[in-house]
Amino acid sequence: EVRVRFAPSPTGVLHIGGIRTALYNYLFAKKNNGKFLLRIEDTDQSRFVEGAEQYIKDSLAWCGIIPDEGPDQGGDFGPYKQSDRKDLYKGYVDQLLAEDKAYYAFDTPEELDEMRETLKAAKANSLNYNSISRNTMKNSLTLSADEVQAKLDAGEPYVIRIKVPAKEEVRLKDIVRGWVNVHTSTMDDKVLMKSDGMPTYHLANVVDDHLMEITHVIRGEEWLPSAPLHVLLYQYLGWGDEIPEFAHLPLLLKPDGNGKLSKRDAEKHGFPIFPLAWQGQGEDGELKGFKEEGYLSPAFVNFLAFLGWNPGGENEIYSLTELVKEFSLERITKAGAKFDIQKAIWYNQQYIRRMSPSALGQLLLVQTTAAGITCDADKATAIATLLQERIDFIPELSTKGAYFFGQPTDYDAKTVKKKWKETAQAVLPQLADKLDTEETLTAEGIQEAFHAVLADNEAGAGMVMQILRVAVTGEAGGPDLMKIMEVLGTKEVSHRIKKAVE
Ligand code: GLU
Repeated sequence: EVRVRFAPSPTGVLHIGGIRTALYNYLFAKKNNGKFLLRIEDTDQSRFVEGAEQYIKDSLAWCGIIPDEGPDQGGDFGPYKQSDRKDLYKGYVDQLLAEDKAYYAFDTPEELDEMRETLKAAKANSLNYNSISRNTMKNSLTLSADEVQAKLDAGEPYVIRIKVPAKEEVRLKDIVRGWVNVHTSTMDDKVLMKSDGMPTYHLANVVDDHLMEITHVIRGEEWLPSAPLHVLLYQYLGWGDEIPEFAHLPLLLKPDGNGKLSKRDAEKHGFPIFPLAWQGQGEDGELKGFKEEGYLSPAFVNFLAFLGWNPGGENEIYSLTELVKEFSLERITKAGAKFDIQKAIWYNQQYIRRMSPSALGQLLLVQTTAAGITCDADKATAIATLLQERIDFIPELSTKGAYFFGQPTDYDAKTVKKKWKETAQAVLPQLADKLDTEETLTAEGIQEAFHAVLADNEAGAGMVMQILRVAVTGEAGGPDLMKIMEVLGTKEVSHRIKKAVE
């Protein structure tokens, strides 16, 4: 059975790359009738951010990505939060220590800094604590057993590091990248556990993937450099025959393709790169979310799925269920995926156009209710029908449709400058009077009344129609005017005309 996990650390707001990772895991699991797990990797308490875990859960829920197992769902492989699993990791570290595959290190921060300086001076690129430098440091490989015991008894702070072999080849096959070969001489002796008993990401991640019987590790490309270490850990722990398959997802790039997409791009261009808005908790301040900007969840999910994957063919519109049917890891692109907000907007338009007017009307009702404006389902549906083709975002229902809820206060300046007064004063008040005598009229009825008035005055439709539109809506353009007036009702239109030309 396929078992995959999304394993975020609650260290801040989940960006679009993170939620894409979750989506691909979910799609892969569902495609293969497998399980999708949510595991919260919160062992680094110094980076804990209040609200981040809830944000992750809310974001997944908004996208319809529901875990089969997780902190809220439970499951047979729990707990699903690493801080609740703390006691379980120690046994594995003890095993590695006993087998000489890990060691204690007692170096102080100053000593580590000093080593880094020395290495920098010797231009030994990014490596620091490794099979060479470890021999000069204060650890259980260089100290006697008694010295080590004395330090432990004295309660000196320590870390436990993995003992990476000096000269071996680690090989792994990545589904997206192909074969990755790394020589252990280029690997650091990463920390596995600190003296407070908290495992690091590497240890907890590998142990949990094993215990939770994860078959495929699907995650961002930034974790590819850690993969050889994870493979080594699997081998060290005796699980070399059960290493999951890896798929490292391409980076999300800036709109111009130049480098990694960042929070600053979002600020610079004013577009969201986070699923939900984030209200200033933690260091991130206030951030825009796709949801609050008026994107529909299925549009966002469709957009997200195509950032680094496509099913081939012309069709770009896929529901979550259809994505599940089509998804395969093999069709993930190797190259980074450019973030293009225009594409997101296009998706949103497409999904708005595909909604039923009554469903769209319901969304409008949410907005009017929140704003304390009276509206009913019929009116909302009628407005939604008129605006459906003209909006990119859901909140525009009430902003672009403001004239449905109140008389305009500003009138399109260009139209007013033209023959506003003379034409309008001659013809429009007559229309106003005519409409005033009717309780209700359909668009066709209003059209008839309008043409009757034009005929009486021997006036052409064009200019009068334009002025009528501005008098009723304030705006020079918009949906079918007769239909707008039908929604507004005869009395209201009459009132607006009189007000405009008085
Ligand atoms: N906790 C890691 C993260 O925050 C998980 C990486 C992985 O999937 O292995 O992304």
